[in-house]
Amino acid sequence: MLKEAERVDFWDVIVIGGGATGLWCAYDAALRGFRTILIEQADFASATSSKSTKLIHGGIRYLKQGQLLLVHEALHERRILSTIAPHLVHSRSFILPYYKWHERPYYGLGMSLYDFLAGPLGEEAHQFLQPSEVLTRCPTLDADNLRGGCLFTDGQFDDARFAIELAKMAALHEATLLNYTKVTSFIKQEGRIEGVIARDLINDQEMEIHGKVVINASGIFSDEIRRLDEPTSPPMMAFSRGSHIVLDKEFLSGETALIFPKLNDGRLAFCIPWHNKVLVGTTDVATDRPLQEPHPTHEEIEFLLNAAGQYLSKKPQAHHIRSAFAGIRPLVKRSTTPTAKLSRSHKVSIGKSHLITVAGGKWTTARRMAEDTIDHAIGAGLLENITCKTMKMPFDEMTHSHKGEKLHPALPYTDDDFKIAIEHEMAQTLTDLLARRTRSLFLDVKATLEIAPTVARSLQKYLAQTDAFREEQIETFTTFARPYSP
Ligand SMILES: Cc1cc2nc3c(=O)[nH]c(=O)nc-3n(C[C@H](O)[C@H](O)[C@H](O)COP(=O)(O)OP(=O)(O)OC[C@H]3O[C@@H](n4cnc5c(N)ncnc54)[C@H](O)[C@@H]3O)c2cc1C
Repeated sequence: MLKEAERVDFWDVIVIGGGATGLWCAYDAALRGFRTILIEQADFASATSSKSTKLIHGGIRYLKQGQLLLVHEALHERRILSTIAPHLVHSRSFILPYYKWHERPYYGLGMSLYDFLAGPLGEEAHQFLQPSEVLTRCPTLDADNLRGGCLFTDGQFDDARFAIELAKMAALHEATLLNYTKVTSFIKQEGRIEGVIARDLINDQEMEIHGKVVINASGIFSDEIRRLDEPTSPPMMAFSRGSHIVLDKEFLSGETALIFPKLNDGRLAFCIPWHNKVLVGTTDVATDRPLQEPHPTHEEIEFLLNAAGQYLSKKPQAHHIRSAFAGIRPLVKRSTTPTAKLSRSHKVSIGKSHLITVAGGKWTTARRMAEDTIDHAIGAGLLENITCKTMKMPFDEMTHSHKGEKLHPALPYTDDDFKIAIEHEMAQTLTDLLARRTRSLFLDVKATLEIAPTVARSLQKYLAQTDAFREEQIETFTTFARPYSP
C-alpha cells in the first residue's frame, strides 16, 4: 500500500473517504479493473467505522420498525460476508431473555420473521430455551422472574480490522490508498468534476488528482463535501451518536451475547463478548453536527451502566469500565423523523457536476452500497460497463498472529503486531496502532497507556524517526485516549 498518486495521470475512480463505504467502493472499483485511488483525511476507519457495535446483522430492532426490505438485504449481505471473509466475520449466539409469559409469542413471531428473511441458507433458526438453559449459557444474567429466552445467531466482526483487510484487498487489486490526505476542493471543466485537490497532511503538500468519476463516501461529512462542489446544496444528512462501554468478561461469562430487550428509552441494547471483554451498547442521541472523534456523555455512560445493572446479576459501576467510545451514525434525512427511527438504508445520488454521493447504510450493507454506487456511475455513462465481482471473491487471509511475548497481561498484542501494522498496514501514528490496527484502546485504556511508551519506541525504530517524534506521539495519544476513560 504505497503512496503512488503521482504515478498515474488520470484515474477512473477517485473515492473520498476511507471508512466502510469508501473502502468497499475502492475495492469494488479496483476489482472491476478500474484504476482507483482512495483519499482519506485521517486514518482508515478512524471516524464512524471503528466505533460500531461490531455486528454483521439484519438488525432485529429494524423489524420492530417494519423495515423488512432493509433487514432482508442486510441478512443477505451477512451471508455474503461470512462466505467471502469467514476469518473476519464469525457467528455469535444471542439470547433474548423474557420475564413475562406474553413476551414469548411476540418474540417468537419476530424471530420467525427474521429467520424467514434470512432465507434457507441463513444462520440456524431461532429456538426457545428454558430458564435453566438460558442461565447455563449466560450465568450472569439476572435470574429473578426469568421465564426463558430466545436463542438465535447473528454475525460479529472487528470493524477496524475488517477495514484494514479491505484496504489490503483493494491494494492487492491495484487500488492506491492514501491516508492523512484531505480533499480540499474539486477540479472542474465546464461545470463537470474532473478531479480533486488534496493535501497530504503529513508532508504538508498539495496534489492535483484527475479522474473520470469522483465518489463522495465521506459518511457524516457527506454534506461538507457536497458543499465543496455546490455551496448551496441543501443538507441531506442527520446525525445520531451511539456510545458503548467495555467491561471485563466476568460481567458476561460464556460466549453467548445478550440482548437487553426493554430499556427505559424504549430501545434495546446489546451485551456482547468481544476480544475477551464485554461490549455494552448502544445509545441513540440526535446530534447536530458531524465529529470525527465524538465522546460518550456522562448521561450515556449512566444509561448503559443502568441497562447492564437491570439485566446482569453483578451490577457494573463506573470504576469497572475499561473503555468507552462513541460514533456518529450517518443517516439520510427525512423531515421530522427522530434519528432512532430513521432508516439505515442507503442512498446514491449524482449531482449536476457528476459528483456521486453514497450515504447512509451500515457496515453490514457497505458492500452492497459500493456495488450500487459503481453501477450508478456505469448507468450514468461515466464508466465502462463491467460487472461487480465482490460478492464472490474470497478475501485473502492476512490477519495478525500475535507472535511473540504479550506487551501487557491485560492485552493480547505483541511487538510483532505493531511491526506488521507499521510495515504493511500504513499505520502512521501511535493512535493508529493502539486504536485501530490493534483494538488496545477500545479494550483497556489504562493498560494501553502503560504500553504506549514501548509501542512508541517501536514506531520510532521502524519509521527511523527522532526522539522528538516519539515524545510527540506519546503526548498526542495520551490526550486522545483520555475521554475513552470516563
Ligand atoms: C454507535 C454505532 C453502532 C453501529 N453499529 C453497527 C453494527 O453493529 N453493524 C453495522 O452494520 N453497522 C453499524 N453501524 C453503522 C456503521 O458503523 C456505519 O454505517 C459505517 O461505519 C459508516 O461508514 P462510512 O464509510 O460511510 O463513514 P465513516 O466511517 O465516517 O467514513 C467516512 C470517512 O470520510 C473521511 N473524510 C471526510 N471528509 C474528508 C475529506 N475532505 N477528505 C478525505 N476524507 C474525508 C473521514 O475522515 C472518514 O474516515 C453503527 C454506527 C454507530 C455510530
